[in-house]
Amino acid sequence: MRTHLRLLPLLLLAAPTARAHPDHDGILIPVVANRGAGNIPRVAVAIEGDKRIVRSNGLPDHAPGAFPRKGNPNTVAAQDYTFAVPLEPEDAPEPVFRGGWFFGVALNGVPFEAGTGEFWENDRRSGWNYEAMTGFLNLGIDAHNAHVQPTGAYHYHGLPLGMETGAKDADGPPAMRLLGWAADGYPIYDAAGHDDPKDAASPVRALRPSYRLKEGERPDGPGGKYDGTFTADFEYVEGLGDLDALNGIFGVTPEFPEGTYHYHITDAFPFLGRSWKGTPDPSFSKGGGPGGPGGPGGRGPEGERPLPPVVRALDANGDGEIDAGEIAGAPDALGTLDTNGDGKLDREELRPPFPPDGPPPGRP
Ligand SMILES: [Zn+2]
Repeated sequence: MRTHLRLLPLLLLAAPTARAHPDHDGILIPVVANRGAGNIPRVAVAIEGDKRIVRSNGLPDHAPGAFPRKGNPNTVAAQDYTFAVPLEPEDAPEPVFRGGWFFGVALNGVPFEAGTGEFWENDRRSGWNYEAMTGFLNLGIDAHNAHVQPTGAYHYHGLPLGMETGAKDADGPPAMRLLGWAADGYPIYDAAGHDDPKDAASPVRALRPSYRLKEGERPDGPGGKYDGTFTADFEYVEGLGDLDALNGIFGVTPEFPEGTYHYHITDAFPFLGRSWKGTPDPSFSKGGGPGGPGGPGGRGPEGERPLPPVVRALDANGDGEIDAGEIAGAPDALGTLDTNGDGKLDREELRPPFPPDGPPPGRP
């Protein structure tokens, strides 16, 4: 995998409120451009009240890989995103996990999501969830660590290679590079961070995640040696690397010289955070919070008959049928719709589509 990002001159949007450089109270980095045939990426960032609002059509500011492709039968399509994150994030009492939510949004308006909808034997209850980025299951990840959901939503599973921000001089010394915003409002950087996270004068180097492969054999499910095929093949070991279990750390950054909690995207597991330090905004729910994709103000996938969310949740492999394995997995599948975690499915949670991610799994 490439470990550096392609950097090209920043082209500025002619937006009156846009500032070319990040600042303290409102980081507005306009990103434009695109040479893609016909598909014009659109993204606008605004500060509204105590929120940072990212509106975009989800098309990248670089040419995506050719889709459909082997491992991913979907076609990139414009979306209608309105993501909102708090300007002043607050830590939740404990890390927050939400299955099927986007983790965050890149500065170019393309969302991040680490998890997949692919499970061993299509069985969500098995607990054996395939990893997208370890190369054992071909999910059609392109050269930008991205692929496409059935809705047409292009999204990054790792470093958004090719995204242009102009935030770093390619020939200069290593520097931290802001890549986007997590759903809880904390910023997301590439792997580079300060050797002493509290000291902006300390050297910048690639920070290491604190996960490793488990030793031995899987006790159930697919069996065999832990090799990285599944998310559960990895374990967090506090202090093993530089980053915490969320792939984050508190420290100073160019945009937050006083220091902030922030996430890093690494080129090793977990690549992207899987849970949040703070409370994620419902606009990142693919089930659709207010203004979220598929939610009120959002738009369903084009050219695809929207299925009731319960059906979408139960049909883990997206083949339009609910097989015995999927029936067995029904309680867990329905649980994924319970985005507010209150133990029941309310009208809001049942309303919009809940697309599974990617194609049905082939065998690695
Ligand atoms: Zn994906």
